[in-house]
Formats: sequence, C-alpha cells, structure tokens
Amino acid sequence: MPKSINVSNIRHGNPGVSGWYAILPEPKPPVVLENDITADWLVIGGGFAGLAAAQRLQQLRQNERIVLLDSLRIGEGSSGRNSGFMIDLPHDISTDNYVGAVERDVLQTQKNRYALSFAAEAAEEYGFSKEVFNPCGKINAAASESGDIHNREYMEHLKAMGEDSTWLDAEEMKRITGSDYYLSGLLTPKTITIQSAAYIRGFAEGLSGNIDIHENTPVVSLERTDGAWKTITPKGSVTAPKVILSVNGHLQSFGFLKRRLMHIFLYASMTRELTENEVHKLGGEPSWGAAPANPFGSSVRKICGVGGHRILMRNKFHFSASLEASESDIQRAVVDHNRSFQRRFPMLKDVEMEYRWGGRLCLSRNGVPVFGEIENGLFAACCQNGLGASKGTLAGMLAAEYASGHDNRFIEDYLNESQPTKLPPEPFATIGATAYLNWQEWRAGMEK
Ligand SMILES: Cc1cc2nc3c(=O)[nH]c(=O)nc-3n(C[C@H](O)[C@H](O)[C@H](O)COP(=O)(O)OP(=O)(O)OC[C@H]3O[C@@H](n4cnc5c(N)ncnc54)[C@H](O)[C@@H]3O)c2cc1C
Repeated sequence: MPKSINVSNIRHGNPGVSGWYAILPEPKPPVVLENDITADWLVIGGGFAGLAAAQRLQQLRQNERIVLLDSLRIGEGSSGRNSGFMIDLPHDISTDNYVGAVERDVLQTQKNRYALSFAAEAAEEYGFSKEVFNPCGKINAAASESGDIHNREYMEHLKAMGEDSTWLDAEEMKRITGSDYYLSGLLTPKTITIQSAAYIRGFAEGLSGNIDIHENTPVVSLERTDGAWKTITPKGSVTAPKVILSVNGHLQSFGFLKRRLMHIFLYASMTRELTENEVHKLGGEPSWGAAPANPFGSSVRKICGVGGHRILMRNKFHFSASLEASESDIQRAVVDHNRSFQRRFPMLKDVEMEYRWGGRLCLSRNGVPVFGEIENGLFAACCQNGLGASKGTLAGMLAAEYASGHDNRFIEDYLNESQPTKLPPEPFATIGATAYLNWQEWRAGMEK
C-alpha cells in the first residue's frame, strides 16, 4: 500500500535574524533542488541532528549517494540560533537544578560525551578555529542565594556521579566575566562552546564535498512506492529507499506525534560590537560562557573574533502549540533581555542590542526523544528536549547507524525509550504550559 505524507508548516522561518549568523560573512548562494533525482539516502533537516546523520552515513557508506535538504539556509534554523553550549553533563531544563537519578545521569553523560567527541572529530576534520569550537567548559553562574544553593546541589550531584567541577567565588567570577553580579559559579570543564551558525555552516560546507546539500528546499510531501520514498519539494523531488527525518519539533508537521510534542520558543539578543574603551571598562576574559544556575535564568556568552567583542543574553520561554512565533513575540523578550543585561553590565549602559531573535525547542513531557524507524524506510532523530547540540548530534549519528545496520551500544537504549506522553487538549495545554513557564521565570528571580 502506498503511504503518503503531506507536510504542513513549510514556511516556518524563525523570528528575527540570529546574531551568530549575521556577523559571519555572506554564505555562497544556495543550491536549490530544481530537478528530480534519486539517491541511496535522504536526510531531511540540516541542523545538529541532520548534519551528524549525514556525516555518519558518509563514513559508513562511502560509495552511496547522500542528499540533504533544508527548507532554510543552513545555519538559519535553531541549530544556528542557540546559546552555543554543547553540554556533556546532565542538563534537564524541566527540573530545578538540571539533574535526576545518578545512574541515569551517568549514562546520559556518557552519551553526550560520545556525541561531543564525534563533533570534535568533525571540527578537526573541517578545521574549525577555537572561536567556532572551543572545549573551554561552562560556568553555571549564580546571582542569588537560591542560585548558589542550586549550584551546591549540582556540585554534590556531580560528585556522586564521579565528576569534577571547580567552585568559583564572587571574586573569581568577576575576574572571568568582568561583572560583580554573580555570587558564585561552578565550572565544569568538558562542555564545548560553539559559534552556533559558524559551526553549522562549517559542518555543512565540510560535508558538501561528498554529499549534495540543497537549501531553501522545503519538503512538502512524501510518498512511499516501489520500496522507496519519493520526496516532493516545490521545484523537484528526491527518490530514496531510506530517509532520515531530523526536523526536531517539525516531526509534528509531517503528521507524527500529534499532541505529544511541546514546542517552546526561546529568545536571545546580541549586542553591537563593543568599542575598545567598552571592552576595557568591562574587563574579564575575552570569551566565556555562563549558563544560569536556575534553568529559567539567563545564559550569557562573551565572544570575540569575527564581529568583534560582543555579549549574548538568552532568556524568556514561550509555548506555541502551532510552532509559530512572530516578530512581536520578540518584543516581549526585549524588556527582559535589556533588564538582564543592565543588571550584569552596568558599566555598558550605552551598549544596545544589535540583533534579537527567537528559535524553537522541542520537548516531550516525559523527556524522551523520538527515535527509530517510524514508517518503513523512514527514520526519526527528533525531539532533543532543549539540548540539541549534544543530544541532536547523538540522535543523528545513531539514526544513521541504525538505518544502515551498524551496531552501537546506545541504539538499544534509544529504542527502549517510551513514547512521548500525551499533552492535554487545547486550549488547556497552552494555558497550563504558559502558566508554568511564567511561574518558573518568576521563581528564577535575579538569576534571570
Ligand atoms: C535561543 C536558543 C538557545 C538555545 N541554547 C542551546 C544551547 O546552548 N545548547 C543546546 O544544546 N541547545 C540549545 N538550544 C536548543 C537547540 O538549538 C535545539 O535543540 C537544536 O537546534 C535541535 O537540533 P535539530 O537538528 O534536532 O533541529 P533543528 O536545529 O531545528 O534543525 C531542523 C532543521 O529541519 C529543517 N526543516 C524543518 N521542516 C522541514 C521541511 N519540511 N523540509 C526541509 N527541512 C525542514 C529546519 O529548517 C531546520 O533547519 C537553544 C535554542 C534556542 C532557540
């Protein structure tokens, strides 16, 4: 029986221009798919998951034709518009302090690190600089008594997991960040910070020598006939026996997991380039990354390199059952970002934000991914639960291995995960999720 899938939400841009993308040189013009082609493999989605899947396929099936499609320019999607923490440790943003059961967190850490070493190999192969891919660790920064307590709990949990971390007092935090806003910090050394858009674009460019990448090419439908999927795009098609869907929450737009995936927009702002005098007034190290001690607080990155010295602020969550957000949703984050920035950097009171943007996360209520063969020959590496840099990379690699019959100790584990649990019907899901997010952001207090 032929199976057909119509895709909704194909014009699904994200609100605002990501600063990471905007400060890079213009990319080469996109290669849009404009004819009917066949391939051995099709990967849909060119973020962390899709690129990892394509890279792994390319390693495992060197003589086979691999095609990757994305509806946007590579780097314009969420993978190129995040805070750029590729995190090795447990980082469950649905908890108060990121952690769960020790045994599960040890396993999650092994998985994350497996993904990080895969990313590190690609970074080496494609010649990424430290500015793009920096194994410098991450600080969980605390600005309040409760944040400090969260950090201490996190440190104890890491000890129980057998993990090292370094406690930083207020003076150390000021030496690193230039700000006297923080009471303490917890440095965990193995997180990698990335320039998100440069990483994603560089990864795709590296791969493009061996695989065909078509940008601005949304998949509008798929049909299974004669043992292959014919995937239709506005100006062409790709027919391939095996397809990997690495579209995160857009899995829902392909008709799967309806009312089981939570779509949350998260917002970020990036300053204009700081002047030499402002860099001097700020002090601190040239580049650093601070995640909040409370998951609903602010992530802050200080960067320097292409685009000069700049600061990125990230906070404000917004539930959107329709997967849509608009420019006006960004405006709601503006007040929060400005306030969070001024609290931390009063010495930079004349520094404006140059870029403001939002992007999607996909979470399941029970924190599980969507992985495996969801239709004959159609594989999913989706629902990264807010941690796509590491979890998306791993899911993409594993999907490629599973689909090509290659063994990996983590595949069984992914296959054994339960299904995402159902959400309440609308409007209750939106009302409940919005109330929950607002309450958590309020509780984050000065961590925001
Ligand atoms: C502001 C912000 C900060 C964040 N910070 C972090 C962080 O520090 N660390 C972290 O790990 N995560 C972070 N995240 C989350 C992270 O960005 C996501 O989890 C990650 O991007 C998911 O990767 P992915 O490859 O699964 O999906 P995506 O990055 O969403 O990639 C999916 C791709 O599929 C394409 N696509 C969708 N539908 C179609 C179609 N019909 N046809 C063709 N292509 C299609 C999209 O255009 C997109 O490029 C953050 C997110 C935001 C918004």
